[in-house]
Amino acid sequence: MDVFGQNGVCVHADSNRLFVDACKKRNETIVISHAHSDHARISQTNRYLMTPATAEMVRGRLRPDQLQVLPLGRTAEVNGFGVSLHEAGHIFGSAQVKIANGLTTVVTADMKLQKSLINEPAEILKSDVLVIESTFGKPEYAFPPREKVYEDLMLWAARNIQRKHFIVLSGYATGKAQELTKFCNEFLGETPIVHERVFEQNQACEKHGLKLGGYLKLDHNLKDANVLIVPPSLADPHLFQVIEHFTGKKALSAMATGWPGNRGFSKTFPLSDHADFNQLLEYVRQSEPRQVLTQYGFPREFAFQVRRKLGIPARELDAKGQKTMGEYAG
Ligand SMILES: [Zn+2]
Repeated sequence: MDVFGQNGVCVHADSNRLFVDACKKRNETIVISHAHSDHARISQTNRYLMTPATAEMVRGRLRPDQLQVLPLGRTAEVNGFGVSLHEAGHIFGSAQVKIANGLTTVVTADMKLQKSLINEPAEILKSDVLVIESTFGKPEYAFPPREKVYEDLMLWAARNIQRKHFIVLSGYATGKAQELTKFCNEFLGETPIVHERVFEQNQACEKHGLKLGGYLKLDHNLKDANVLIVPPSLADPHLFQVIEHFTGKKALSAMATGWPGNRGFSKTFPLSDHADFNQLLEYVRQSEPRQVLTQYGFPREFAFQVRRKLGIPARELDAKGQKTMGEYAG
C-alpha cells in the first residue's frame, strides 16, 4: 500500500486507489473532508463523496450527478475500499476519513479536539496509518481553553458596545463566521448583521440542524445592530470608514484566529478551528498508529516531535508514493 500527497491524499493498494481532498485528478471519485475551498476543490469531471452538511455548503459548485452524500458513522464502498466519515470538530459538516482495506488508514484533514459552540471535538480514531494535519505542529502553539477565549471576547465586545462603539468581528464565512454568529447571540445577547457570504453559509448550516440564533443580512442596515460579521478579506480601513460614516460610531475590529499578531485588527482572539500542538500529539497517542504521516503547516517539525515524544515512526507525507505496505506493517 502507498499513501502519498498530491495537494490532498492518495491511497493506493493493489490496483485500487482512493483520493481525499483537493487532488488534481480527472474522472475519479474524491472524498471531501469539509467545505473550505483549499480542500473542496471541485472539477466538472469528478464524482465527490462528502457529508450532507458539507454538500449543502458547496452545493453551488456541484452538479447533482457528481455528488454522493455519506452521513457521519456510515460506511460506503468506494473503489474497493471501505470508507467512513467521522466527526473532525473543525467546522460544521467537517469529517475525518477512515479508509479500510485490511489496514486502517485515517486521514484527519483539518481537525480540533476542542469542543466549540458549533462542533463536538474530533472523534479519535484508531489507525494503522495516520495522516494527520500539522497546521500548528510546533510546541509554541498552545491555545487556551475555548470557554476562556469566549469570555475574553465577550468582555472586550460588551465593554465597547457599552461605550457606543461598533464591533466588527472577522472570521472565514465558512466555519468561523457561524461560531461568531452564535457567540453574539449567546454571549452578547446581540443580533449581528452578517455579510452576504456569511448569511448564505449560516443558512446552509441551519438547513442541517445547526441553531445559530438571530442574524440580519448586511443591506444598508448598519444602524440596526452593534456588531457586524465579515470575512477577513473585507475587514479593511475602507469598511471601517463606511461604518463610522453611517453609524456615527467608532469601529473596533477583532479577528478570530490561532495565528499570533494583530494584522490590522484592534484585537485578535485565539479562536482556532485547528488542533494546537498538544491536541495533535494527544490524537496521535490515542490513535496508536504504526506509521504517522504529517501534512500542512509544520509537517517536518511535527513528525520530529512524534518520533521524539511518542517513539512512533513519523514523517512528512511524500508528494510521490515510494513506501510500501512493509513499512506500515513493521
Ligand atoms: Zn479547513
